[in-house]
Amino acid sequence: MRSSFKYLQIPFVFLALFVLACSPQNSSPVRLEASVQLEELPTLKGKNVLIVYGGWPGHKPQLFAEKANKLLSAQGANVTVSESLDIFTDATTMSNVDLIVISYTMAKIGKEQIKGLEKAVKNGAGLAGAHGGFCDTFRNNREYQYMIGAQFVAHPGGEIEYRVNIKGDHPITSGVKDFTTTTEQYYMHVDPNIEVLATTTFTGEADEWIDGAVMPVVWTKVFGKGKIFCIALGHDPNEFDQPEAQKILINGFRWASR
Ligand SMILES: [Zn+2]
Repeated sequence: MRSSFKYLQIPFVFLALFVLACSPQNSSPVRLEASVQLEELPTLKGKNVLIVYGGWPGHKPQLFAEKANKLLSAQGANVTVSESLDIFTDATTMSNVDLIVISYTMAKIGKEQIKGLEKAVKNGAGLAGAHGGFCDTFRNNREYQYMIGAQFVAHPGGEIEYRVNIKGDHPITSGVKDFTTTTEQYYMHVDPNIEVLATTTFTGEADEWIDGAVMPVVWTKVFGKGKIFCIALGHDPNEFDQPEAQKILINGFRWASR
């Protein structure tokens, strides 16, 4: 009974495929391009995302967490928000998490906390963040530095206007053109084992000795089975209302997720 029902289904499958192949949507190259792009970036639908925020209030970590939560929830992610780094020691949460977003500028991380975070990432959880909340925190923790790919050291000139140049072709920056932003231009010590997706070039205006230095603004990295994503913009989380920055941020979250 069951098998004859299965055979009956076959003509319908062919009919469905034929209708799909003939549909006008498929003849549009724009649609096709969009579907290819979606395949390259994992979906966030049904994924477990943990946002951990705190640290130096100047970076408005709560506002960043709210914005990230809104973007992630709109993609169908199950978002958990925590103000405590102790959540990294919760084995159940950490073994089920698909993406961890950190916004925790200039904080300290405990031995058990970093151990839980490192283990989750090594096992395949993504790790992502922006600006000082991600690459200027846990400064004296080697394990964290080893994971994230770059460490902030200065922002010469304070908040200034500068260009962000998109490099090459990557699903995270796909369709994004070079753009101008006004924020801190992060100067960092960079891990050679990162993939750079966007850069900025320093002038010598504030510090003449860095004139012409090209610095990553967006990068990815692999750590164990986990994927790392960072964007150095975001001194003010409202910078992610700019379409280019927002697109890179959400695409980065998607890319890094398990
Ligand atoms: Zn800042």
